[in-house]
Parts: sequence; C-alpha cells; structure tokens
Amino acid sequence: MIETIKKHADVLEDVPLNKYNTYHIGGITKYLVSPLSINDLVEVIKILDENKVPYFILGNGSNVVLSSKKFEGAIIRLNNIAGIAIHPELSRAYAEAGAMFPKLVMESIEKGLTGLEFAGGIPGTIGGSIYSNAGAYNACIMDYVESVTVLNKETYEIEELEHEDITYSYRNTMFKEEKKYIVLSAKFYLKPGEKANSLAILEDRKRRRLESQPLEYPSAGSVFRNPDGDFAGRIIEECNLKGTSIGGAEVSEKHANFIINKDNATSDDVYELINLVHDTVLEKTTVDLKIEQEFIGWD
Ligand SMILES: Cc1cc2nc3c(=O)[nH]c(=O)nc-3n(C[C@H](O)[C@H](O)[C@H](O)COP(=O)(O)OP(=O)(O)OC[C@H]3O[C@@H](n4cnc5c(N)ncnc54)[C@H](O)[C@@H]3O)c2cc1C
Repeated sequence: MIETIKKHADVLEDVPLNKYNTYHIGGITKYLVSPLSINDLVEVIKILDENKVPYFILGNGSNVVLSSKKFEGAIIRLNNIAGIAIHPELSRAYAEAGAMFPKLVMESIEKGLTGLEFAGGIPGTIGGSIYSNAGAYNACIMDYVESVTVLNKETYEIEELEHEDITYSYRNTMFKEEKKYIVLSAKFYLKPGEKANSLAILEDRKRRRLESQPLEYPSAGSVFRNPDGDFAGRIIEECNLKGTSIGGAEVSEKHANFIINKDNATSDDVYELINLVHDTVLEKTTVDLKIEQEFIGWD
C-alpha cells in the first residue's frame, strides 16, 4: 500500500510528532504523508480507506493536544497544498488549505486588501482555521469566507460550498461538528485598504500579544473557550491557578488561559493539567469551561 501512496505523496515512516505541533509534544506516527496536490490527496484518502488505515489531517498543530501513544495510521499534512492568490481588482483572495493564515494576511495587505488583520497572530493553516472558525478581536475567518472547497470523505467528491451553505458560530463550524469534509481551499471577500493602516494594526496587535501572552514558550494558544460574557483566563486566575504545574507543563503566569510547555512537558503532563484546571474551576465556581483545543489519540 505505502508504495502506491508514495506515487502521490511525500511519505516518512515512524516519525515523532513533537516537531509538528506547537506544544512540541506527542508520540510517533507510523506514516507522515504530504500529498503532492489536491488530486493526489483524493487518491491517498481512497487508498487509505481501501486498506482500512486510519488517518488524521493535521494542520500546523496549533490547536491540538496529541497523545504519546503511537498512531498506527497516517497523519496527513497539506504542506504541499498551500498556494495563495490575491486578486486586488476583484477584492478577493484564494488560499489552499495548507497555507499559513498569517501568510495570507500579509500577502493580502501587500496587495492593498484589508479585512484579515485580526489573524496576524493566529499560527494555523487555512484548513485548520476554517475547521474551528478561528478568530480574534471580535472577528472570525468565516466572516470573510465567500466559499470553501471540500473533499467529501464519504463520496470522494470535491464540492464547493457557498458561504450561506456553511453553518458556523463562535469557534465552531459544521466541518468540526460533522467531520465529513476535508477543507481543500477557500475564497475570501476583502476590501480595498491602505497598506500602512493595515500594517499599523498588525504591529499594535503584535505588541499587545507579546505583552499579554507567553509566546516565548510552546503552547497551543487559549485552552478554554470564553464563556458568554466572561473570560476563561479571568476565571482561572480568580481560582489562583496561575503557575500551577504538572511535570513540565504550567498554567502560564502571564496569561491564565495558556498552558505552556515550560520544561520538556509530556502529552500526559499537558492533558492532566488541562483536566486539573477544568475540575478546579468547576469545583470553585461551578463554571464548566469548554475546551477549545482538540485531544487527538486519547481513548
Ligand atoms: C500562540 C497561539 C495563539 C493563538 N491565537 C489564536 C487566536 O487568536 N484565535 C484562534 O481562534 N486561535 C488561536 N490559536 C489556536 C490555533 O492557532 C487556531 O485554532 C488555528 O486555526 C489552528 O489551525 P492549525 O492548522 O494549527 O490546526 P491543527 O491544530 O493542526 O488542527 C486543528 C483541527 O483542525 C483539523 N484540520 C486541520 N486542517 C484541516 C483541513 N484541511 N480540513 C479539515 N480539518 C482540518 C484537524 O484535523 C484538527 O481537528 C492560537 C494558537 C497559538 C499557539
């Protein structure tokens, strides 16, 4: 099977996943597969399904908590499917799923388009960001999406879904709910704007993030969703959990909703600390915080 897949993808075997997620944790995957094109991705998925090999699409690994258990299947990365095209004359942009969101932000600003500045500090791919409707500063990616092209994992058909066909809400979409689609690419509607203004906004937000977030340590951003009308970080801080640690994982002193890999944390350290924060907050305040990050490979 793997020889056939190699006709359609770069393949590595028995790969430690810690280099492929922003917590820098996780076990080994049997196969790490990077399809060469969208058509090759479709072929790879068909071959894996025919051989009943489980697979998982990994973006930049900036919103996942990977277990240390060996993944007996294929982790698929879309790093070869990462094209970006900006069309200033139409106020439109196009990006493939493996493109990094901040790269799309910069390229659209360079071409005089505005709208995506909110995402300058979101270190994910377009695919991963659409999946969870990533956002910041009261804006989210789905606000700017005109259509999303997807691979239907059940029929192997490629479909273009228009904005109105896609249901989404705060940090959630039908892609996350249904798990039926692989995001392949998206079209965005933007507006003409002044490059200097956009760059000033980016710079200001970067400064604010550097001041308020522990970006000097590996993490996967905010651990919990903000409950309606409140901030998870404020509630966690109120429970005196800042600085709490398990093994090498620590609740950041700088931002209570970040768990950082301070000193060679294992997957279990991060997992247990997330649960400890959740359970302590529930006990002390009755708030049942909802996790924003996704646990992958845990039973
Ligand atoms: C320092 C830091 C700051 C952050 N700030 C923010 C922020 O301000 N706002 C915010 O929303 N998030 C933030 N995040 C979290 C994260 O960057 C986003 O959620 C990002 O959109 C995740 O993209 P990813 O490519 O890393 O996805 P991954 O973590 O790789 O994957 C997440 C999920 O998406 C699925 N997925 C990935 N690609 C596809 C695809 N092509 N098709 C279908 N499913 C797919 C995966 O299977 C997985 O289930 C931050 C993270 C860090 C580390």
